[in-house]
Amino acid sequence: MFFLVGVQSYSHELGFYKKEGTCPNCNRTIKLGIVRNSVWLTIFFVPCFPLSIKYFKFCPECGISAQITRKEAKALLK
Ligand SMILES: [Zn+2]
Repeated sequence: MFFLVGVQSYSHELGFYKKEGTCPNCNRTIKLGIVRNSVWLTIFFVPCFPLSIKYFKFCPECGISAQITRKEAKALLK
């Protein structure tokens, strides 16, 4: 008996800020986006449980991103 074990990363765009903000890189006034990146343990290619979940804010114009907490991400999307 054997198990085919691996890891798989997923990226999910959660949405954009409700208010416009200024990008620290390109200085444009724009609605920044929020994305959730997660890494899952897979058994036979089926995701079983997450190994890590991280949230990032990103600028859709220049692509720069910075890690934020889950609490910050939820507050920014309200
Ligand atoms: Zn930018």
